[in-house]
Amino acid sequence: MVNVVLIGFAVAAVWLASLWLRPFGACRRCHGTRMVMRGTKRKPRPVQCPACKGAGRRQRPGSKVAHRIVRKVRAELDRQRKNRQRVIEEDQ
Ligand SMILES: [Zn+2]
Repeated sequence: MVNVVLIGFAVAAVWLASLWLRPFGACRRCHGTRMVMRGTKRKPRPVQCPACKGAGRRQRPGSKVAHRIVRKVRAELDRQRKNRQRVIEEDQ
């Protein structure tokens, strides 16, 4: 049972890390090509992808949350470090 929780945490950590490192993924509509084919089969006409507006990528769902969490954790670590520093300085 504990193992399942640990695996869950590990999966969540890996997922968050991947979102942190790569917040953008290839656009699903154009697969990163920035163009989609319009028109008929005999006369295909490439147009700018309407889903990503020609960017070729999309923000992965959850990446904003991941960045918020990382910022929060960093702020907390920074706060703790400053607290430790203050204690050290007060001791001297
Ligand atoms: Zn697209």
